[in-house]
Amino acid sequence: MTATIDTAETGADTPQPTFDSLNPATGDVVGTHPIDDKAHVDAAVDAAREASAWWQELGFDGRKEYLLQWRSVLTRRLHQLADLMHREGGKPHGDALLEAGLAIDHIAWAAKHAAKVLGRRKVSSGLLMSNQAAWVEYRPLGVVGVIGPWNYPVFTPVGSIDYALAAGNTVVFKPSEYTPGVGRFLVDTFTEVVHGRPVLNLVTGLGETGHHLCTAAVDKIAFTGSSATGRKVMAACAETLTPVVIEAGGKDALIVDEDADLEAAAEAALWAAMSNAGQTCIGTERVYVHERVFEPFVAELLRQAADVRPGYDDGGVYGPATMPTQLTVIRRHIEDAVAKGGKAVLGGPDAVGDAYVQPTILTHVPEDSLAVTEETFGPTLIVNPVASMDEAIERTNATKYGLAGAVFGQKRAMQIAERIRSGMTSINSVISFAAIPTLPFGGVGDSGFGRIHGPDGLREFTYAKAITRQRMKPALMLQSLTRDKKTEDRFALILTVLHGGSKTLPKRR
Ligand code: NAD
Repeated sequence: MTATIDTAETGADTPQPTFDSLNPATGDVVGTHPIDDKAHVDAAVDAAREASAWWQELGFDGRKEYLLQWRSVLTRRLHQLADLMHREGGKPHGDALLEAGLAIDHIAWAAKHAAKVLGRRKVSSGLLMSNQAAWVEYRPLGVVGVIGPWNYPVFTPVGSIDYALAAGNTVVFKPSEYTPGVGRFLVDTFTEVVHGRPVLNLVTGLGETGHHLCTAAVDKIAFTGSSATGRKVMAACAETLTPVVIEAGGKDALIVDEDADLEAAAEAALWAAMSNAGQTCIGTERVYVHERVFEPFVAELLRQAADVRPGYDDGGVYGPATMPTQLTVIRRHIEDAVAKGGKAVLGGPDAVGDAYVQPTILTHVPEDSLAVTEETFGPTLIVNPVASMDEAIERTNATKYGLAGAVFGQKRAMQIAERIRSGMTSINSVISFAAIPTLPFGGVGDSGFGRIHGPDGLREFTYAKAITRQRMKPALMLQSLTRDKKTEDRFALILTVLHGGSKTLPKRR
């Protein structure tokens, strides 16, 4: 994104300020977009509100048709979208293709499963209320504001947008100021499918535009971005009691047990650390390796890393830092790790250039280093030996974040995965959970709360609605001001029969 803000004539009395999105590899302007102020954001929310009735009345089947149509349009224009993602974010075309492809799969899943997950279903009314029939269903909230980051400008916001739409909400989307063109592409293609109706609306601008969305008359905010901004979003939403989903940063660890396939573990760690220039919320930033296999693991890692190089050309496996200011953070983390005694076995402080960061692997980094405690968001990897898997888990969990992670191993892998305090863990692979539409996606701690994807992701954009219907007169009339003592005694008796029969207390452990 350019630092200069231009003004362009919009045909209105006062010119609307604009900003440029820049290609991080070449500095070329990719597109110019308006900076939407409060009035523009409110107007977008009003438009979404107006479209809400039509979208809700379509029902699950009607919405499914439109969402599947959108999925097909995106699939047919996949290369066009990937090219835009490549130019605006700097990631290789192949990575962009993969990202958009996974998002498309989620759109299809949400469209096809919304009715089953959210539709009205009969539930047991229990013995005490057996004269009642009971149902539960999940109703759309209304208008959902989605605020997105730049690192996965399709997969990440679509994870909220498609689930919110499938649940029956209309949406106002504010993409990152670094990838507004990709945001526009998503909204334009959807709007084409719904014949111009403002079901999915775009607002563009910097952080302030995002703030306006939080304070507009939306029914929920789905935010993805840094933990620091997540706090601001929550504070703004607290004013109006607007609920929020926060998908924030991470500091994920990959654990390598002594019986792991070291070649596979090294390949996964390298990919999860370096791809997308390390700018992956669920990327691997730390590796804890059983000391018995530490040396061979590092040797294998270095062997595989030998040919890894960044670039904007076809040979570059990852691109430049999308956000130039991140380069300072990456350099500071590497310098701090080395100053505290960490060993740079590949790259190091000099690996940080003007746009690109060469792959950097640091071992024996003290646990109080910034590179261990803070999100680095660069193509760097901390690899530390541990004496046991208990120690690996303890170190993995000694973070304020709790987004995801991975375990490589055989015998104990599942037990280790269970003990990791994070929203998602892959065993013997990395990041796989994100590509499984039935699994919830989200974190704990500073990584945020709430879930996108899967049934949880659909319910996240709804409110539960309970309905009961009296089928016959109750045996005991409890909800009456004329209730007598006899009725109360009978109620107490039934309760004793139902719940008073606990045999023995559980043994004290
Ligand atoms: P960011 O927090 O700087 O910005 C995210 C979005 O918030 C942008 O659209 C920005 O314009 C907007 N924003 C900024 N200030 C705002 C305010 N006061 N009110 C409302 N909106 C505001 O994050 P980023 O640099 O775009 O993204 C990188 C971060 O996102 C990393 O920390 C990464 O880990 C995280 N991330 C998390 C997930 C996840 O699913 N957990 C996914 C992708 C990225």
